[in-house]
Amino acid sequence: MIEFKKTLKQARILSPLKNFEEDTVTFEYRTDPLTGRNTTVIKGMLNYVGRFLTSDGELIRALVEKTRENCPFCPENVKIKTPMFPKNFLTDGRIQVGDAIVVPNLLGHAEQSILAVLSREHHLKLEDFTPRMLLDGFRGGMEYLKRLCEVDASVRFPVFVFNYLTPAGSSIFHPHMQILVRDRPFYLVKLLMDKSQAYWEEHGTSYWRDLIAKEKNGERYLFEVNGVDWLVPFAPLRGLNEAQAVVNGKSSLKELGANEWQGLAEGITSILRFYSAQGYTSFNAILMSGPLDEHTDYFDVNLRIISRPGIQQFCFTDAWAAPYLLWDGEAVEEPERLAERIRAFLKMTQLK
Ligand SMILES: [Zn+2]
Repeated sequence: MIEFKKTLKQARILSPLKNFEEDTVTFEYRTDPLTGRNTTVIKGMLNYVGRFLTSDGELIRALVEKTRENCPFCPENVKIKTPMFPKNFLTDGRIQVGDAIVVPNLLGHAEQSILAVLSREHHLKLEDFTPRMLLDGFRGGMEYLKRLCEVDASVRFPVFVFNYLTPAGSSIFHPHMQILVRDRPFYLVKLLMDKSQAYWEEHGTSYWRDLIAKEKNGERYLFEVNGVDWLVPFAPLRGLNEAQAVVNGKSSLKELGANEWQGLAEGITSILRFYSAQGYTSFNAILMSGPLDEHTDYFDVNLRIISRPGIQQFCFTDAWAAPYLLWDGEAVEEPERLAERIRAFLKMTQLK
């Protein structure tokens, strides 16, 4: 029922890099098996843009120093420089779980927009994120959602969002996560829910269960932790090093138990360790949920994570016109090759 459709196309050029001999460039059009959206796999693109994906260590050190002064999320400032919830929403004004502190956003991306400061450290390499930090943030976020549902049941669609460092769109260096909640789903969440429902009606099974059954232990499959399956998607949404997680049979964040949150936190930190080993410093992730007030058999909570370009003098972005404005997907290498590299890295580091 799930089909992985791809079409190969080639371009021929006389390449100045090969003394103007004929060279072939290969493009692979892949159709997302749920949404039908095209993603073009551009073979060789990862090598071509690779030099823009790593960071200038000295520039980062200078930026860390500079942004540390007056950082609102550093421990000495967080209680005097971040907003508080109104007293009738939360008597204490902020939520603290472990080292995570949950506060409202000064200016967010949704009607209910909050953030969780994840660490007392002003800057973390991607390999330094720990499952504990993420779990504290997740638990703080869930405490907030619980209270929000008590005061306004119409706000049903939460997403947890990571924008880490400036190439990922963050204006604040200090590690944090955002929680955006609306009365209507974000476009991608709605698209995935609508298509999943149509799939359920057509086939009588869950797309997400069928996807994992088909991908499990295949060439794009990565690992499973506590009922959370990790893989590289056949047709990535965005270009760089995209991985996906699916939480088995849970349709909203409210249904997740401690085990599954742990599965998400461990998976994220494993992927971040891989990114770090490639020399990457910045990432985005989204954790998508179905409606909080009902269980749906056709939708599973799922996550996407991507790396972003490096911090360098040369301000490179991977938000090219094709993915950013034309809404197509682009992948800089074959998803199967990426999965192979992640698996090899995790196997090697676990043996140490
Ligand atoms: Zn800070």
